[in-house]
Parts: sequence; C-alpha cells; structure tokens
Amino acid sequence: MDFNYLNDKDLLYFSKHILLPNIGIEGQQKLSSSEVTVFGLGGIGNLITTYIASAGVKKINIVDFDTVEDSNLQRQINFTNSDIGFHKTDVIDKYLQSRFPNLSVNKFSNKILSTDEVDSITADSDIVLDGTDNFEVRKIINKSCNSNNKKLIIGAVEGYSGQLLTVMSNKSTCYECIYEDLTDNNSCSESGVLAPLVGMISSMMAMECINILTGNNPSYENKLVLVDGLNISINIIKTKKKQNCLICSQPYEKI
Ligand SMILES: [Zn+2]
Repeated sequence: MDFNYLNDKDLLYFSKHILLPNIGIEGQQKLSSSEVTVFGLGGIGNLITTYIASAGVKKINIVDFDTVEDSNLQRQINFTNSDIGFHKTDVIDKYLQSRFPNLSVNKFSNKILSTDEVDSITADSDIVLDGTDNFEVRKIINKSCNSNNKKLIIGAVEGYSGQLLTVMSNKSTCYECIYEDLTDNNSCSESGVLAPLVGMISSMMAMECINILTGNNPSYENKLVLVDGLNISINIIKTKKKQNCLICSQPYEKI
C-alpha cells in the first residue's frame, strides 16, 4: 500500500467521514491509500465504483467484458442512452474520471476465464468486490482470493432477492462452501431485477468495504445476508466453513 497523506482540499472534501469516530483522519488516509478491484459493472458495479471513489479510494480496477444495452439502463444508473454499444469499462472509466480527477482507474475488458487472470488483476488490491452475474466467474474469483489471501465481498440481486457475504480469506465461509453445486446454468443474468434493491445491496457492500479498509471489523463474515425487496426485510443466516471445501479447507496454498 502506498501511503497517501491528505492535503487541505481532502480534509474539507472528506470532513464528514473524518468526523466519524471509527474513521477519523487515520481511517481516511487508509481509504486514500487503498486499492480496490470491482468485478462486474452491472447495477452493483455502477454504484459501488462511485461510492468507493467518492469515499476517497484512489486506485480502482474495473473488470467487465460487456457493452451497454438498452435493458441495462433501468438499474445501471451511471449509463445513459448515448452509452449504448460502448464497453462498460470505457463508460465507467470516463464517468469516474470526470467526477474524481485524482482517481487512477485500470480497465480490464476481457471475459474472466481463469484464476491466473484474477490473480494478476487483484495482485495489489486490498479488497475485491464481486458484482458479477455468473456463478462460474464468482467461483473463479472466490478461488483466486482464497489462494492469495484477499478479502472478498460478494453481492448479487435476482428478482426480489438480494444476497451478500464477506469472505475473509481462509478464515470464514467462502462462496464455494455455500454454493458448491451451482453452475453456469444457474446464471441470474436472464432474470428480472428490482432496480432499487441493486442500490441497497451496493450500498451495503460499499459500507462493508469502507469499514474493513478503515480498520473496522467486517459485518457479513460467516453470514449470508438475504434482503427481500418485496416485503422489504433482511434475514441473516449464520454460515459455517465446510470442512472439506475444495477452496478454503487448504489454507494459504495455491489450488
Ligand atoms: Zn469454502
């Protein structure tokens, strides 16, 4: 981590964070010195990149192979009609640079097919945020993060259901422990999505990310948070590491 000291402008810009007892100047400096990788620039990726950048993170890697389509605009709120057909990475990069001129954005527009690619992209990242809509890709990201001792926050929305969990590598329940049997055939990319629920899950992921980066404890470790957008309720299920999990039962070893 390259330590970034705050200048006078930063102190004013981030004053409402600095006033928070669990952030303060020290926490804000940690945020400004952090690197975060965001996989997936759908509804979750749109919002979470904005929140993380506005919170002061200065280095963000964005990963998505897709282009903007008409059906994205309902919930992927940084995209407009004029972005249709363009790569999501290019559009989000342009958007973030226009709002946060001191932000360093690295774009990756290839489809993620292997842990090697994830290893390389996230090599210097303090936290990995997964907002993808594909189970196989989520498993690849989970595997890479557990092999490389990276903290991972996973969020998803399908229909009226939002889900969230945090994986503190090799310590807590991982994605594979919970979703071992899911395959690409279960992809949620073709399902309906309640747009504001995406905002809620994104905000919860951003809060978790900011809390962890500023040295506070994770809230969703060993928990599966289920948000019901129809009845507007939150259910938290305690989870346990699977003893024979293919990914996290072998600590700190490349699989
Ligand atoms: Zn596991």
